[in-house]
Amino acid sequence: MPDELLERLREFQTDAFPLQRTLFRNLVDEGQHPLTLFIGCSDSRLVPYLLTGAGPGELFLVRNVGAFVPPYDPEMDSPPGADGAAPPRGDAKLGAARRLAGFHGTAAAIEFAVLNLQVRRIIVCGHSHCGAIRALYGEVPAAAQNLARWLQLGRDAALPVAEPGPEVLRRTEQRAIVLQLERLMDYPMVREQVEARQLTLHGWHYVIEDGEVHVFDVDVGQFVPASRADNAGTGPYQRFTEADALDYSGVPLAAPP
Ligand SMILES: [Zn+2]
Repeated sequence: MPDELLERLREFQTDAFPLQRTLFRNLVDEGQHPLTLFIGCSDSRLVPYLLTGAGPGELFLVRNVGAFVPPYDPEMDSPPGADGAAPPRGDAKLGAARRLAGFHGTAAAIEFAVLNLQVRRIIVCGHSHCGAIRALYGEVPAAAQNLARWLQLGRDAALPVAEPGPEVLRRTEQRAIVLQLERLMDYPMVREQVEARQLTLHGWHYVIEDGEVHVFDVDVGQFVPASRADNAGTGPYQRFTEADALDYSGVPLAAPP
């Protein structure tokens, strides 16, 4: 029986990689300087590189069930324990927020992207027909305890209906995106840079069947289809200058300091 994955790995190296060998060489020599942190749902139908036309080196990607952002937890700055690095173990002294956030990769990626990579924009991208959002209205298998806890991050977006129809699900998907943007603003490094206009936030709802992203516009308080939107950002929005533009190699013309 052929090993399809192995075949694909070999084809990548022999067929696709040579076309971008120089780009990858540059990204190794110069390091990565992505300008965008993309927080997207893990759904296989959401393909960030296709949506944005991005290439290697352009997107710092975080994906999880629902495109959720854990609450910022200041207690993580001073974890308990003699060695100062005790992991959360369900200790009763740990707050609910900490149990939600504890050791979470999404929170770590946000901090790394903003503080180390100095990204200029953060996109939170949900989508139509999202299983995580639908799960907010249903039962989660008893064995999926981590999933059940994780879904609490979308709970506040749910509407008070028992049997959600397509419109309610669509609205919940969009409300969840706005909720995550609000949580992002609780991260001190995010808030500081947004207020200093060094960083912009983008709430996107991708409608799979239309191939169109709807952009949350905070000024009008709703999602606007990209075909009619003024810009790709959620206010306060600042257009990027020429110096921020990427050349076709995917390497920033003006690398962040
Ligand atoms: Zn989803």
